[in-house]
Amino acid sequence: MTSSYQSLMDHCRQFDQLPAEAVLKQDILRLGLRFSEAAMNIAAGFKPKDYFIFSFDLIEIKDMENREHLRVPEEIRVSGGSLELRPTVISTRINPESPYLVDLHEGKLTLTCDGITVGEVEYHPVPAFYKETLSTGKPMGEIAPVLEWGYLVYLTAYRMCQYFNKKEQCRFCDINRNFIQQRKAGKTYTGIKGVDEILEAMGHIDRLDDKSKAYTLTGGSVITDLQGAQEVDFYIQYIQAIEEHFPKRWIAKAVVQAWPLEDCRRIKAAGLQIYHPNYEVWGKELFAKICPGKERVIGWENWINRVVDSADVFGPENVIPNFVGGVEMNKECGFTDVDAAVAHTQEGLDWFMARGVVPRFTTWCPEPLAALGPHPAPSLEYFCKLLLAWRETFVHHGRKVPPGYGEPGPGRAVFSVSAFMDVLEPAYVTV
Ligand code: SF4
Repeated sequence: MTSSYQSLMDHCRQFDQLPAEAVLKQDILRLGLRFSEAAMNIAAGFKPKDYFIFSFDLIEIKDMENREHLRVPEEIRVSGGSLELRPTVISTRINPESPYLVDLHEGKLTLTCDGITVGEVEYHPVPAFYKETLSTGKPMGEIAPVLEWGYLVYLTAYRMCQYFNKKEQCRFCDINRNFIQQRKAGKTYTGIKGVDEILEAMGHIDRLDDKSKAYTLTGGSVITDLQGAQEVDFYIQYIQAIEEHFPKRWIAKAVVQAWPLEDCRRIKAAGLQIYHPNYEVWGKELFAKICPGKERVIGWENWINRVVDSADVFGPENVIPNFVGGVEMNKECGFTDVDAAVAHTQEGLDWFMARGVVPRFTTWCPEPLAALGPHPAPSLEYFCKLLLAWRETFVHHGRKVPPGYGEPGPGRAVFSVSAFMDVLEPAYVTV
């Protein structure tokens, strides 16, 4: 059987149109990471994994024998090694079975795969604003955690989703169950964040930080109401408050549902720049199976047409819907053939990009508490072909690098949950 290290090297050779950094990032995201005791002890002085929305782990907290959930860093940055890697930021997904291990060798943090050195590792320092205390006593990392090597402040205003109420949540999603496991594990984990506590946290960041350039407001879907507010009113209040107090201090982004035009106009007027109405998976049939709640409440055609229509409000470059890369290969209702799966997803990319909208993707993390449950990771071949298909469609339609993600290209990209920004070489950089 080919070892994981050999497979990584083979894929780097086979897909030499992709930067090795992107191939490695996808492999680590699909397989997860483990850390030695020494590597976790060092992480205590760095920015921890804050569980900003989902668990994004391959095992449950209750099964973590070494209390990894409290001891690992949010991200690692890998460089050097035989692949001569440029610094590559990768999100931490805990998996004690992963072939990828962060360990300490001769005083240096090192990434190995099957025991063979891949590169040197850095952790992100604790940002200065993390040392502030909020008047509620909650940690800053709970209310306004930072990701993407300091670039993005992530504001999950509502840590639950009402699609779970009728068991019609997106089948890859563990948001409510993660909320429960975090609470059980004793973490301060706020169900609904107050506007005031978010403003207080953003005030500290405004004062003490110059690295964060964007924030994302998000949370679960509101189907009936939340604290008496409809979904649109619930989320707009945060954008409005932040933009009133700190106008254009950050690029304002929101991950919400595909709203009618009138609601898009309202959140745009409140100060939102970038709109992420995530369609999750391409195709009516898969969408209905994987996102049954979204299918019932909004519907497939309505969803994708609203995404495109919203470009009239935000400008097409500011409408960036996400899909979950790899979930179309799930064993319950997905493809078994890699090329068929990639061709299917590329059809969707082409449909959106022909209309000016550039989707991005995150890498599916088969979380055990999601309805799909534990799953073998889709192959590295799938992710390499997906990256090629994404870039090919992007170039074919002459689209611009999406705003709100920092610089593109290997060695510069900070988006840590997929390599879509790493595969954009400078030749494609037009913004
Ligand atoms: S809409 Fe889907 S992905 Fe989003 S929080 Fe709800 S269940 Fe999860």
